Amino acid sequence: MQTGGALAAAIEALLPGMCPHCDHPLDGTDRGLCGSCWSLTVPRAGSACRHCGVPIQDSSEPCLACLQAPPPQSATVAWGEHDGVLRTAILALKHGGRDDLAAPLGDRLAASVAAESWASLIDCIVPIPSHPWRRLKKPWAASELLAESVSRRIERPAIRLLRRHGLVRQTGRSRARRLELSQTSFSARSEADGRSPLLIDDVMTTGTTLKRAAQALRHAGASAVYCAVCAHAPDSRRFS
Ligand SMILES: [Zn+2]
Ligand SMILES: [Zn+2]
Repeated sequence: MQTGGALAAAIEALLPGMCPHCDHPLDGTDRGLCGSCWSLTVPRAGSACRHCGVPIQDSSEPCLACLQAPPPQSATVAWGEHDGVLRTAILALKHGGRDDLAAPLGDRLAASVAAESWASLIDCIVPIPSHPWRRLKKPWAASELLAESVSRRIERPAIRLLRRHGLVRQTGRSRARRLELSQTSFSARSEADGRSPLLIDDVMTTGTTLKRAAQALRHAGASAVYCAVCAHAPDSRRFS
């Protein structure tokens, strides 16, 4: 089993009232994690492309990919890196039933958005929806819980404007291609017309999911789309 899978399986057994990273009991003032573990989480260091959020040397310019093909979103911000305590916290929220982590993680995400020059332009919060088959197991995606938390903090309504498509009419395609399509296919409701949504997800790796979702919103008439994620995960397929 992969390390991530083993960790996800281990946190399935998490008990409420315990810190999912160090297993110590939480006291009345702790929110999701114990204070010691929260103190180990730090905002993302290093430069990132302001448009798509991938790491680059110089954030004053767009990355090469954004220069060659401007992304559908106007800006992307990630609060931290997907490792250590933050990774445990996100996995506990996604797979461990620890919905109590949505508020403190959302608070951090909202703070990083509020620090951006474009924060005042956002008029609604839109979660990246989970796969249809995942909704059968857990009706509330982590991104939706985070979006509700960010919505309360920055006082914009959370609206479900996106639909994620499942495995339909893909007979004859390879399994890998079917999975790729199911992970990246979105459509947006007509209510997106003229809006400037903030897309929320828990983790970004290559940024493809955010781009596909932002594209769907732009196709539906969104004036501009902004993106915020709790953590950036390095792409293991990259060599640099
Ligand atoms: Zn702890
Ligand atoms: Zn970029």
